[in-house]
Amino acid sequence: MRIAFFAALVAFVVQSSLAQTTKPLDGRPWNVSTGNLSVVFIQASPVGAHPRDGVIEPPPSLESQVAWREKGLVANEDYIAWGAVERTPGKWEWAQHDAVEKNQHAAGLKYVVYDWAHFPPVWLREQRKSERTLMKCLEHGQETNYLSIFDPRTIAWYDHFYKAVHGHFGDKVDDMYACILGPYGEGNYPLNVPDWINIGHCHEGYWCADEYAIRALRASMTKKYGEVGKLNEAWGTKYATFADVRPPEEVTGTDKYKITPGMFPTAQDKRRWLDFITWYHQALIDFAGQSVETLLKYYPPERVRLKPGGTAHGINPIAWGTFSPGYAKMAAKYPRIVLQPADCLGAVFGDKWLGTAYAYYGVRLGTEPAGSLDKKTYVRRMFSDASCGASQHFTYEFDQHVEEIRKYIHLYTGKPGETEVALFCPTTYYRLGGDLGPTIRAANKLRDLCEFDVLDELLIEDGALTPAKYKVLVVTQAEIVDRLILEKLDAYVRAGGKVVLVKKQAVAEVEGREWVMARELTTVANLEELKGLVGGLNGVDGKFDGLWTCRRGGQTMVFNTTDKAVAAEVNGKQVTVEPASIWESR
Ligand SMILES: [Zn+2]
Repeated sequence: MRIAFFAALVAFVVQSSLAQTTKPLDGRPWNVSTGNLSVVFIQASPVGAHPRDGVIEPPPSLESQVAWREKGLVANEDYIAWGAVERTPGKWEWAQHDAVEKNQHAAGLKYVVYDWAHFPPVWLREQRKSERTLMKCLEHGQETNYLSIFDPRTIAWYDHFYKAVHGHFGDKVDDMYACILGPYGEGNYPLNVPDWINIGHCHEGYWCADEYAIRALRASMTKKYGEVGKLNEAWGTKYATFADVRPPEEVTGTDKYKITPGMFPTAQDKRRWLDFITWYHQALIDFAGQSVETLLKYYPPERVRLKPGGTAHGINPIAWGTFSPGYAKMAAKYPRIVLQPADCLGAVFGDKWLGTAYAYYGVRLGTEPAGSLDKKTYVRRMFSDASCGASQHFTYEFDQHVEEIRKYIHLYTGKPGETEVALFCPTTYYRLGGDLGPTIRAANKLRDLCEFDVLDELLIEDGALTPAKYKVLVVTQAEIVDRLILEKLDAYVRAGGKVVLVKKQAVAEVEGREWVMARELTTVANLEELKGLVGGLNGVDGKFDGLWTCRRGGQTMVFNTTDKAVAAEVNGKQVTVEPASIWESR
């Protein structure tokens, strides 16, 4: 009875504090935004999936936008597609977007442009073929309707479009995204999303068969190896010159593009594939950097944003090209721009994989989920975002989640939770097509025990793993790891860091040699056993009780992942955390 009374009291207190938050919320500090407008206009345009004449998409009612602004919204983003506004060369038609811009500003919202420059207008795609290159798949040697990131003229076309947007709107554009390549202009290679644009031949796969792509691959390998003999030695090939280098036959001329580690039996096969996939991922990141740099010609960095793609709630298939830590490293060169990865719904491995990288490289993190999140998942998303150091918030479902946003948006401080525990991301193994499912599932369980960072091999290569910062590195999968990374792990252990293997496992470098250190490392059979090794470290709450704890500075946040109220001792006090809610210290 006392418990029921206490729960009722807690419910009363929660309601009272909610009642106090019904005053207008200024969402500006967190850039609470939604989208997307003008997509029907794009769909009906000449480049659209269903071209129809004379279709205009009216802006939303002014009343609805004012109401949203009063609830804390900052922007309802507008999609501008190049092929929809320059239907005839040099003749720009802005009526659709002028109306949206006026509507948003009249409502007191920002006018934010999310743009699609990557699908060329029909006149460029069909009539002026000599002036453009389209992405071409290795599987069938066929073009899709996406412009090739490998042809330097593509960035010049993006410039042509950015310049026109700036020329027309100037400072009326409050924020603008730099376009990359994916189906939504994000940091993915072409994927088959045919709903909005006529994308032509398209599928998941490897899009580097155009002549510029092949040339770029050869140039990159020339730079890496210097002499073709060295490349042949590393790859087990017999190329006479670098001009003969071809993309891997495993994904050329075949529909079987799904990569698994078993497809590369020898060390040379592995190295050949790793060189390719690392180049392929970096090519897209480098292009994103060029797009940012081009947009910075027209708008200052605090107005420039980028969507580097998502995590598919774990980690994206390698063919997609969404190497999140690489985007963070690239963006470090452009302070003050904001990166907004997708799929953020509190999937802790993915969130921490990118969150740790953003924090390490000093990049501002805004987050975006897909739609259809229930209330519990939304709160989990907000907790995870906050603990990853997010400072901005995007949702496609603003109206459905106003209550959660108002209640928790102040937790987006830009500061990640503090922890001395890191989880290893086996990037080499991932690049070889390894299934990271075991690590992703372990991360979910580990989050109940402690806050942790996820260290991608890129971060380890760049020096993120030190005993001063991390007392324990938890390794769940490490079948194959690049030697350079293993040397960093050796140095970490010698300097006093502790690497803990979950389950005994042999670790080998790409060239096949065993990692001897693995034999001497502490091994635990499961995460229950790990508990005893990390107790007392910063970031560890130490209990598998369904409560996730995050501490930063003097602040403590606790999220209840269960469906029941959970009582716990936090900072020496007895507290009860309601289901699907966040308790925070005052
Ligand atoms: Zn194809």
